[in-house]
Amino acid sequence: MEFVKFNTYLTGLIHKNSFKKQFVFNLTELVRSGVQDPLDEEKHIKTKGLIHRYPDRVVLTVTNRCFAYCRFCFRKNNWKNFSGFELDGAINYLKNKKHVREVLISGGDPFTLSDKQIDDILFQLSNLNNIEVIRIGTRVFTSNPKRIKKETVDILKKHKSLWLAIHINHPDEITKEFKKAVDLIANSGIPIVSQTVLLKGINDDHRILKKLFYTLVKLRIKPYYLFGCDQALGNEKFRVPIEKSLDIMRKLRGNISGLCMPSYAFDLPNGGGKIILEPQNILERKKNIYRIKNFEGKEFVYNDI
Ligand SMILES: *Cc1c(COP(=O)(O)O)cnc(C)c1O
Ligand code: SF4
Repeated sequence: MEFVKFNTYLTGLIHKNSFKKQFVFNLTELVRSGVQDPLDEEKHIKTKGLIHRYPDRVVLTVTNRCFAYCRFCFRKNNWKNFSGFELDGAINYLKNKKHVREVLISGGDPFTLSDKQIDDILFQLSNLNNIEVIRIGTRVFTSNPKRIKKETVDILKKHKSLWLAIHINHPDEITKEFKKAVDLIANSGIPIVSQTVLLKGINDDHRILKKLFYTLVKLRIKPYYLFGCDQALGNEKFRVPIEKSLDIMRKLRGNISGLCMPSYAFDLPNGGGKIILEPQNILERKKNIYRIKNFEGKEFVYNDI
């Protein structure tokens, strides 16, 4: 099976626990508990590979291939049942949807496509007047950073308001190859945000996350989302309870700079969509008088207008 083979980059790192736990499958786990399509994305597929769930933005799943397959992937469904991507169909759909202003190119990993294919997708999207922002969601920086070459960056920086959203879960994933690829992108002026999946036994500790977020910001990457692990097939053992997740957020908030703080988000089952949760700081409210807890746990009274 394809997902048991590793490229040379990952082969050199797979002995580390943080990598082993993320990428080395126990093949029986895929048939165990969980749901096929936890985000109910199927329902929102409008043309081949185009998911339109929220008013002003769409997702394009341009491939189902990745450089390495994550045991906790929420789109495992696509590994087998991917119905493909058609650029013409997506462009035609978007032409008539004036309120869609942002396109998120996702997958699989878009960087498994050739530079030429990526250039073509970006070119056609950039030609649409309503599309103001394009975001590429990728794990290439942590699974195959050498794929990002100067020529790749030259293609990316030609296109309008492009952002990269990179998937990274553990400080061990910040290698010299990772830094080199990130530097190429950041130096070209393309902004980068990060997405981290909160994973039991891998990064469910505020000290690990603090180290990760500090280093990301130092490298000019803004931590964007800390995702709760979705209920996809075989994901149960990685899931962290909401209460513990909020406790981790509480330990980070105020203790680390706001620039280093992602939002904690997860997807509601049955197509409820993404929601963001914050640890609760309002202890009590009586009319306009609030009793509020600060980041040190001390209580304050706030008289609102
Ligand atoms: C997460 C997601 C987006 C992007 O949402 P942001 O909150 O803007 O990052 C768009 N469409 C779908 C279906 C999503 O799951
Ligand atoms: S890189 Fe993303 S799409 Fe690919 S296996 Fe991992 S979580 Fe799934």
